[in-house]
Parts: sequence; structure tokens; C-alpha cells
Amino acid sequence: MERLRRQLRSIDRKSYKAYKEIEGAYRFTGYDLCVDHVQGDPFATPSRVSVRVPMDLAGLPGELWGTETRRVACEDFVARAVRRAIGERVRGGRGTGHSGEVKIHANAQQVLVRNALIVTAAFVEARLTVGLPARGRRTDGRAAEVMFFEELPGVVEAALIYRNLDGAALAAHVQSVEDQDHLRRWLDAQGLAAFVSDGAVLPRRSGIDDRPLREHAVRFRAPDSLAHAPVLPNAGPVRGMGIPRGVTLIVGGGFHGKSTLLHALERGVYDHVPGDGRERVVTDPTAVKVRAEDGRAVSGVDISPFIDRLPFGRDTRRFSTQNASGSTSQAANIIEALETGSRLLLIDEDTCATNFMIRDARMQRLVAREKEPITPLLHRVRELYKRCGVSTVLVMGGSGDYFEAADTVIMMDTYAPEDVTAEARSLAGAALSELDTSGLAPICAGCARRPRPSVLDPSRGRHAVKIDVKRREALSYGDHAIDLANVEQLLDKDQTRAVGWMTAYYARHLGESGDSLVGSLRKILDVARRDGLDVFAPYKRGDLAMPRLHEVAAAINRIREGEWD
Ligand code: ADP
Ligand code: MG
Repeated sequence: MERLRRQLRSIDRKSYKAYKEIEGAYRFTGYDLCVDHVQGDPFATPSRVSVRVPMDLAGLPGELWGTETRRVACEDFVARAVRRAIGERVRGGRGTGHSGEVKIHANAQQVLVRNALIVTAAFVEARLTVGLPARGRRTDGRAAEVMFFEELPGVVEAALIYRNLDGAALAAHVQSVEDQDHLRRWLDAQGLAAFVSDGAVLPRRSGIDDRPLREHAVRFRAPDSLAHAPVLPNAGPVRGMGIPRGVTLIVGGGFHGKSTLLHALERGVYDHVPGDGRERVVTDPTAVKVRAEDGRAVSGVDISPFIDRLPFGRDTRRFSTQNASGSTSQAANIIEALETGSRLLLIDEDTCATNFMIRDARMQRLVAREKEPITPLLHRVRELYKRCGVSTVLVMGGSGDYFEAADTVIMMDTYAPEDVTAEARSLAGAALSELDTSGLAPICAGCARRPRPSVLDPSRGRHAVKIDVKRREALSYGDHAIDLANVEQLLDKDQTRAVGWMTAYYARHLGESGDSLVGSLRKILDVARRDGLDVFAPYKRGDLAMPRLHEVAAAINRIREGEWD
């Protein structure tokens, strides 16, 4: 500790590079501090610093982290406490570039598995980024001394020592996440695809603010016919709406809350923090939002169940394009979701290709079936459930054609759900002859596709691995710029970064294995669960969050160039 102080004093006002000397480990009172990496200049990505408090000093009670679920929740809570303590105790701007900034990666509304804060039986470790202070391009050792000897010790004391934390809030956080985990398992036992509890607040503040709408939010209340009453391990009995497996339509007038409900279901694959409003909105963890995404690249996907007989006899059993249309992109998105083992598709008319969804009676009369390459989802959605066990929740306010295909119809009326299944049934015509798919190719092909090793090559120029993430939706991987804007269940930049590192791991360890894409990804996700996110990166960092298999696959599926087998 005093060694660090002496070093900071001796390098004061030197060239910024002199900070390199402080890389290394130091013992502070009550914790170890490690300067893992020093930035090259004040404007570069800030330096990486970790602080580790032995558990006997941190004093987190074992029941708060004794199971995997509790540990993740506990880590999330403590990371947020660190972030708050930084806000209160770190002055921030202390000169040029990132001087004086201290950060921890902790996200807003969801509880993700992260490596920003790690709780083990032996210690609690927080991984921070620290902008080492500069005046112009020279070190400011005095300011750095204040950061390391006044500010950071204050943060450690406030956030990494249990007795200084809000113990009741921490316990509530852990219990809430445990209840969510329980609910998701309960869904399966009940034959449900999703559950939305009474009292849930679904609308958000804005399209770019994921916090709950503050004013005039109508709380969710389940119609009696769809009500369920699960008993949660911590909160006890709750009531809410169960969405059964099968085909579910969400109908209702424009602006009545249909998309908002679907959006909450998309996010229901993740746990939410208490107070979010969606803590008890849970969805089958394999749910995938499917949308049209014209312009995306597709590599060797069998979209023939939806699209065949393309002009000029183009093969759709191994369909590749650099520029998919609305309907071919949506077909590829569905097939890829099935390949990754999704058991629930979430679809919103707002983001669909109309010709992929329906072909009405008049159009069927005008354009002969042989001349229409597209078999609309309408004709296959029941089969998806009956033959493949894949349910669909579909927002469809503009067409009644799906009434015939639906098991459950929910109408949103002024943000309140009503069960209108019976009315919709009586309005539906006799069984649609067009729903007969006996003449069509079967849907459920597994995934045998795999990218050639060259596709996954993470190198660029002289860098063996080059992964860069500026925004959630923009993954720069080797020479590839992968656009993830339409992969809506990828929430966080740190997940995108983990997708990149997992793909690099794939290239190194499994690229030549001969396994299918999904087979390899399953192995990688198993490694992630068993050994944590750190195994994917070559050095200690705290900016990774766990993605789902579906999103890792989505990224690889969107790589633009290269051959697939
Ligand atoms: P739809 O898809 O039916 O056209 P949206 O889900 O887009 O409707 O919702 C329309 C608007 O109503 C949005 O601005 C949304 O934030 C708001 N909204 C949705 N649900 C609620 C609710 N439960 N309480 C208050 N406002 C809501
Ligand atoms: Mg809508």
C-alpha cells in the first residue's frame, strides 16, 4: 500500500507512460487491490483495477449466495451498491480524457450473470475501470493518490462490507430473483408458455428508457378464465395470467397495449430487479422474438418449409443471400430459432412481413398457389405446435385470419386483457382448407449447418483476436461488422462483448470439431455456466455478461461472408 503511494509520488507529472509502473498487486487495510492493466494515454480505454475483500471481512451471510441463483442475485445487488458508492464518493473528472472516472458494469433493469462483481466462499471481488488522472498528457500522481487512498477505500467500505449495505434490500433482491427462477420452472410443469402476474407494470418510460412508466400506468390484471395462482418460495401465493402452450393471439385496437405486453414477454426470459414492474413476468427461457429483417445475410438455411419455388428455381433448402427480403429474412429467423431449440416464438405484426403472415382468400384466387413461393406462417403455425411442440404468441390486430389457428385469443382493451377465445372461435370460418399442409415439406429439420473455420476467424491485421463493441447492436469481430440491431433479446453491450469472446473460443476450440453450429454452442454455454465468463477472455476484465445460446447463434448467423457446410 505504501509502495503504491511512493510510486505515485515519484511518477507525478511524468510522461503518462510512467503509470505503467504501478501495474501489480497491493495490500490495503481490509482488501487487496490489483492494477491489472494501465491505459496507454488519458484518452484510451480506462485502466482495469480489481479490489478483493476476503469473505470473513466482507461478511456476506452464506444464505445470500449459497445457491447459484442467489449468488447471481447477490452479485448483482452488490455491483449496484458499488456503482452507487462510486457516484457518491468519487469526484470524477480530474483532468484530460477519462481522468478521474471510476466505473463498474452493472445494468439497469435486468439481473444478468456478469463478471463485474464476483462472490465466492473466499472473497468478494469488484472489477472497476479507472481513468488514471492526467494534466494534459502528464500523470497527475497527486490526484491518483486521492483516488486510490481516499475514494476507492470509501467505495470498498460502503459497498463491499455487508454491515454497511442495506441488508433488508439485499435479502429482498435475492428472494425476488429466486421467485422468478421458481416461476420459470413452474411454467413448464403447468404447460404454460408465459405468466404475467397481477399488479405487473408493463409499459416503459420511453423507447430508450427501460424503467417503468411512472404516471398513469395501468397495472396488469388477469381475466378469471386464464388466471393461475402459483405459490412462490419467498413471496407466497400470487395470481396472474397464464399463457398456455399452443398458438396464442393477442388482439385489440391500436394503442391498447398489445406490443407492450409482447415486449414484456420477450424480456421475461431474464430476471428483473425489484421495482421494475416485470419481476413476475416470466417466459419460457427459450423464447425467441422473431421479426422481419430485410437486408440481413443468410447462410445455408433451409427455409423451404415457408418459401420454395423461387423464380429461376433457386434452392431454398440451403438458402444463402447477402440481402434477404422481408419474408425470406423472417423465414430464416424462424428456422434459426427452431435450430437453437426455441420452444416459443414471439411475433408482433408491427415488425412482420405481411406476405409472410397471411394470404387472404381474394389473393389466393388471383395468384395461383404454384406461382406463390411463400407459404404464410398462418398455414404452419398449428403444425409447429402439434408436430414440433413449438408455441407461438402472436400480436395481430389487423387480421382475423389467425382465429382458426389459435388456441387462445387475448384481447387487450385499454391495457386490460380479456379472454375472447370463444368469440373468436365462433367468428372463425369452418376449418381452413388452406391450413392443410399435408402436401408441404415437414418443418422440424434439426441444425446440421456449421460455419467453416474461416468464417469464425477473429483476427484482423496484426491482431490475433480483434473484438470491439461500441454499441449493443454493433459487434466488430475480426474483419466482420455484425449488425445485431434486430436481435431484440440481446440487452446489453456486455452481452454483445461476451458473444464476441465466445465466438473466438468457438473458433479456437471447436471450429474444426465437425459439430453443428448449435452443437458447438451448447458446449460453449456449458463451459460458461460451469467455469464462468472469465474463461473466454485472455485477461481479467469485468465487462462481460452472459448471453443466451439463441443470441450467440444469432450473431454467428449474421456474419456476412464465408462458406458454411
Ligand atoms: P398497440 O401495440 O396495441 O398498438 P402499444 O403496446 O404500443 O399498443 O401501447 C401504446 C401506448 O400505450 C404506448 O405508449 C405504451 O407505453 C402505452 N401503454 C401500454 N400499456 C400500458 C399500460 N398498462 N398502462 C399505461 N400505458 C400503457
Ligand atoms: Mg403494436
